[in-house]
Amino acid sequence: MTDDVHAIAGRAMDEVAAAGDLAELEGLRQRYLGRRDGTLSTLRRGIGSIGDVEARRQLGQTINELVTRVSEAIDGRRAQLETAGEDHDEPLDLTRPAPPLRRGRLNPVTIAAGEMRRIFAQLGYTVVGGPEVEYDRYNFTLVNQPPGHPARDSHDTFYIDDSRLLRTHTSPVQIRSMLQHGAPQRVIVPGKSFRRDYDASHLPMFHQVEGLCIDEGIAISDLKGTLEYFAHSFFGRDARVRWRPHHFPFTEPSLEMELSCVVCGGTGCSLCGHTGWLELLGSGLVHPAVLRNGGIDPDRYSGFAFGMGIERAAMLAYGVQDIRLLYENDVRFLQPVSAGA
Ligand SMILES: [Zn+2]
Repeated sequence: MTDDVHAIAGRAMDEVAAAGDLAELEGLRQRYLGRRDGTLSTLRRGIGSIGDVEARRQLGQTINELVTRVSEAIDGRRAQLETAGEDHDEPLDLTRPAPPLRRGRLNPVTIAAGEMRRIFAQLGYTVVGGPEVEYDRYNFTLVNQPPGHPARDSHDTFYIDDSRLLRTHTSPVQIRSMLQHGAPQRVIVPGKSFRRDYDASHLPMFHQVEGLCIDEGIAISDLKGTLEYFAHSFFGRDARVRWRPHHFPFTEPSLEMELSCVVCGGTGCSLCGHTGWLELLGSGLVHPAVLRNGGIDPDRYSGFAFGMGIERAAMLAYGVQDIRLLYENDVRFLQPVSAGA
């Protein structure tokens, strides 16, 4: 009888190993282990008729061990079948479509900066650059913020030594460009700026684009026409803007341009603080003292300047809520954002 039990269990193991799918495996479980009429279960019930107590005990133990082994074999085969998604025995089908190729995309900040360059190039602006490690003199003093000026405190500055710092804005390039190119000129300065700031809307390193237009007879109307053209080109025809008086040390008068909220369109939501408007950029007519610091005669020339955060413009254009997402390089974020850009 013990030999019979081993033979049955051996056959069960062979069939389990050969089972081709989960349904066949379940059939084998029923046939050998089924509570009511499974072969091994029936045998186990039959041992009650064996007279010798010791023989009965041993056979019972053997059957229990075999039931456990067959049961484990079934579980093992089940796991194999369930994970056999890529069945290597399957013939290679050359007509199957290949898995989609995941192409890299540009970061939204790069896309936004490129779009800004393109728009201002249409208006005759040239791109210029300047050093990121800047002299205090260019970063502050020559743009009308001499030592002790209160506006310096609003920039949490990374100082390198007494005279050098990581530029806190792209405005020092205004002075460099004036000294180098004189008047008239039309330039934009896309570049990195640095401040000791880090939260959902500030990063210690961010990008600004500075703009400067100097010629004879430049007036506020030139400033407004240029920047409204930019806003419509960048944010779309439906974008509306409004102007509010502001104060910057390097422009006089100074204006802030606000954009109709990109989420609610002006009816009010949490992004715009229920005002319907979002701050976009600072601008104004270049202060005569700044023109003079750049070697340009303010009695003959006038100009306007503006500056805006590229990350902020990208967030508004592509609906990004947290500025830090722009730099975490998570492809799940970058793919859809860049695809919509
Ligand atoms: Zn809103």
